[in-house]
Amino acid sequence: MTENRKKEKLVIIGGGPAGLSAAIYAARAGLDPVVINGPEPGGQITTTSELENYPGFPGGIGGFDLMQKVTEQALSFDARLEYEIVEKVDFKKREFLIDTDMTNYQAEAVIIATGAEPRMLGLDRENELRGSGISYCATCDGAFFRNKEIAIVGGGDTALWEATFLTKFASKVYLLHRRDEFRGTKILGDRVKANEKIEILWNTEIKELTGENKLSGINVENNKTNEAYHIDLSGVFIAIGHKPRSGLFKDFIDIDQGGYIITDAKQQTSLAGVYAAGDVQDDVYRQVITAAASGAKAAMQIEKYFASVE
Ligand code: NDP
Repeated sequence: MTENRKKEKLVIIGGGPAGLSAAIYAARAGLDPVVINGPEPGGQITTTSELENYPGFPGGIGGFDLMQKVTEQALSFDARLEYEIVEKVDFKKREFLIDTDMTNYQAEAVIIATGAEPRMLGLDRENELRGSGISYCATCDGAFFRNKEIAIVGGGDTALWEATFLTKFASKVYLLHRRDEFRGTKILGDRVKANEKIEILWNTEIKELTGENKLSGINVENNKTNEAYHIDLSGVFIAIGHKPRSGLFKDFIDIDQGGYIITDAKQQTSLAGVYAAGDVQDDVYRQVITAAASGAKAAMQIEKYFASVE
């Protein structure tokens, strides 16, 4: 089957900040990279937040706008972007095999930048009601809840930022957190506490989602007092973190207990020629700036890798 394979020097799997930054560096270095954009072109940041802390944009920049600029920049250096989804890889031999829904590739080196996806609460009917009241993306779905009462679950920066964002639309936002202090930063927490449209429900967990074909409410319980009650609402946003998209690679490279790809300080995985960058290998920082930096590092290391094997 090898004869049907498209031979590439460098395949970058994932088109978020890490993958596209790697593409910019690799393309400028003449490595002629192809980026397999995957299911979420531009990455999570295109749907989740407004960036207030990305250097160079003092007034902030939308995640989607930023990634459009990064994409343009990668294309301007002749990086190739393919809107395909990787279904299978085989890294047993040095010519790394990558099969997408459209093309079979064979690469001399690979950068994995597949990112992460939202964690689910694991409630009965959570999947069934996704898109009918349950959402994992405030930026995408917030506007559907104009003048409605909604809830958001989580206590990290995402939940705090999204709770405030959602008050632009909703008449009331319940913020449900399972503990009695936020994990997220103080500045975002203080903003939430000061917002009159937000009611914080500490130590509170959802036990059941109610409603026929669409969500109409939640049964909740206070995990300290065991008080259980019902809240009528139209939407629940779940913002409880993400899990790395590393499943395709687990048989070939080392992955930690949380599913994150293990890399050294130079972004190299346990397999020579395979590098990883961005949220798929970062359980600590998970910022656009750190993802982009790790993508740049991976591409620079690959230049050195080629020099060492040629
Ligand atoms: P985090 O992992 O930081 O927070 C997840 C939150 O969800 C925690 O409060 C956690 O509770 C809660 N949680 C996890 N599992 C469950 C569950 N099963 N049921 C109920 N609650 C649960 O994820 P985030 O997405 O908030 O943030 C990820 C990273 O992105 C962080 O590093 C953050 O700083 C960064 N970020 C930065 C932004 C910025 O503006 N600078 C904006 C958005 C994100 P507990 O606290 O009890 O563990």
